[in-house]
Amino acid sequence: MIPERKTRKIHVRHLAIGGDAPIAVQSMAATRTRDVEATLRQVRILEAAGADLIRIAVDSKEDVACLADIRKETDALLSVDLQESYKLATLVAPHVDKIRYNPGHLHHHEKDRPIPEKVAFLAETAAEHGCAMRIGVNAGSIAPDYKERFGDDHTGAIAQCAVDHCELLDGVGFRDYVVSIKDSDPRLVIEANQRFAEARPDVPLHLGVTEAGMPPDGVIKTRIAFEQLLSRGIGDTIRVSLTVPFDDKGLEIVEGRAILADIEAGRFRSVPPNFFDGLNIIACPSCSRVENERFIELAEEVKEMTQYAAEHDLTIAVMGCRVNGPGETDDADLGLWCGPTRVNLKRGPEEVGSYTYDEVLGSLRKELDALIQARVS
Ligand code: SF4
Repeated sequence: MIPERKTRKIHVRHLAIGGDAPIAVQSMAATRTRDVEATLRQVRILEAAGADLIRIAVDSKEDVACLADIRKETDALLSVDLQESYKLATLVAPHVDKIRYNPGHLHHHEKDRPIPEKVAFLAETAAEHGCAMRIGVNAGSIAPDYKERFGDDHTGAIAQCAVDHCELLDGVGFRDYVVSIKDSDPRLVIEANQRFAEARPDVPLHLGVTEAGMPPDGVIKTRIAFEQLLSRGIGDTIRVSLTVPFDDKGLEIVEGRAILADIEAGRFRSVPPNFFDGLNIIACPSCSRVENERFIELAEEVKEMTQYAAEHDLTIAVMGCRVNGPGETDDADLGLWCGPTRVNLKRGPEEVGSYTYDEVLGSLRKELDALIQARVS
């Protein structure tokens, strides 16, 4: 049974989130927003799978123009991910139902403008157009001041950042917001969301394990976090993030609903023995920022090629773009982030080199062998 939740109810147009509303299941279009036809097809695939809300990334004025075209062709509830371009909110808000901003990205533009002012601007814009908002905090992009204050306590940093941004929105009288606090490690997702829920039991939570990777591991990681949180009454809307081909994106919704049904029926899955030991592959679920669709294939090839190292406690991150890729690979032992024609390979935060999609697996293998060798010698 999923216990009664104590959060307040907010609305994303007709969709209620929080309180006694059913837990909403959402996903994100992985296609380029500028490819209106492909994005509409993606929206329809997600709708057909039962998505309550669909997120789209917008990075430029061209994307906004395409978003307007997409809006004309679908009545689906749309949310937009602003990432670093917070000022695009004024152009985006007329076409969507919800806006997501990442507190860790607000410092990139207009560095001298205080963060509370930027948040007030977003709240005002959202309110003017009847949009809800999501404060989307991510462990891969912690705001610099929180990184400094909290050091290695990443869950403390992301939970406190979310609490502080709630206060900023409360301070300007904006109420229709949810919070998400994501990490690629389900154990940290559990801890951070619990810490937040203790501080702000009234605020609806969007749950997700980011960069969970490919099924089945991506589903297992997500399930671990959702079972622990939802069974304690924490979580009002969910997203399962999976690295799958565009046409299979409906799987995120199908898996999300299956997890909810299982928790509701008291069917908890035991975590496979030693699940957290050995090689961990994290991969982003892809979005409109992917510049080469070979990213998905590459993530699968990395998983296959590295099986020989399965018993080594190492993390390899595979990210789809240059916007979040460089930052979100910093904490991995080896990281790859994909550009239009080349893939950048990193060892921790250090650059190793840039390779074609065909070459990079060989270079990754050399780096992996060297890491394993260094650990055994
Ligand atoms: S890493 Fe880039 S491509 Fe992948 S989901 Fe994040 S923003 Fe999108």
